[in-house]
Amino acid sequence: MSAWTDLGDGVFVRQSRCCQMNSTVVIHDGNAIVFDPGVLPSELSDLAAFVERRAPRFENTTLVFTHPHWDHVLGKPWFPLAATVAHVGFGDEVDRDAAEIEASTKKWVESEGEAWPRPFEAFTPALTLRGTIGVRIGGREMLVYDVPGHSPSQIACYFPDIGLFVAGDTLSDIEIPWLDGPPWVYRRSLQALHWVFEQEQVKHLVPGHGSVAHGRTDSYKRLLRDIDYLLHLEGEVGNAFTLGASLEETQDRLAKMSYVGKDAAYSMNDVHRANVKFAFDGLREQAEMRQDGRTKET
Ligand SMILES: [Zn+2]
Repeated sequence: MSAWTDLGDGVFVRQSRCCQMNSTVVIHDGNAIVFDPGVLPSELSDLAAFVERRAPRFENTTLVFTHPHWDHVLGKPWFPLAATVAHVGFGDEVDRDAAEIEASTKKWVESEGEAWPRPFEAFTPALTLRGTIGVRIGGREMLVYDVPGHSPSQIACYFPDIGLFVAGDTLSDIEIPWLDGPPWVYRRSLQALHWVFEQEQVKHLVPGHGSVAHGRTDSYKRLLRDIDYLLHLEGEVGNAFTLGASLEETQDRLAKMSYVGKDAAYSMNDVHRANVKFAFDGLREQAEMRQDGRTKET
């Protein structure tokens, strides 16, 4: 099976063997926009050759990084003259996590039978973005949304002309919302995206991992499913917390929940368990703050 999917309108998706990570390429008028070029060295060479055939001038290529996790940030050396775009917080986050990115890269790339050819170098993108904003890159209008919850500096991008939504690590069919803090932050990001699916004619949704969703209805269903998961998680953790359960008891209790990727080959079991901890810690912090407030009043 080819790693490439042609979505029409100059949009191509290349799926990695590693974690089913997607790199999206948008070709328009001799320009190329490449989202999250990755993951394995052989795949990056294939990606670079593909782009070079369609956008032969190196300087007409723009790399967009949806967020600074290891599997999304490796491609820059394969596109040495390309412009780089990411969230304003990306540079600091990638700099802070460089050692961890290097270690994860080595581990995963070697487990796929390849060698990583160079040390990972943190970088600051040439163009940084924040908030909901429209930019013109590669000859196309692109709307950018802040979607924290999985990483503080994650963005999702929408091309209104061609109905393409590049979701970063949200709205996957093989991953649950993968939290890096309290669930409400992620839920608020999804609520903001609600308007994209409500108002725009989304033709394709490309998640960071897994299959492309086609059409507004299928895309919207992923959004509703992820909000449902988060509400369920928060509700169940809240019940356990109120009853005085410990974190471990809460995790054991919530292991019974059904969710995407439960017991799958690409398993979400550990992610779900970690999500329970983020929800639990959020409640504990709130309770401590309330306690502090009461102590100050008395
Ligand atoms: Zn990620």
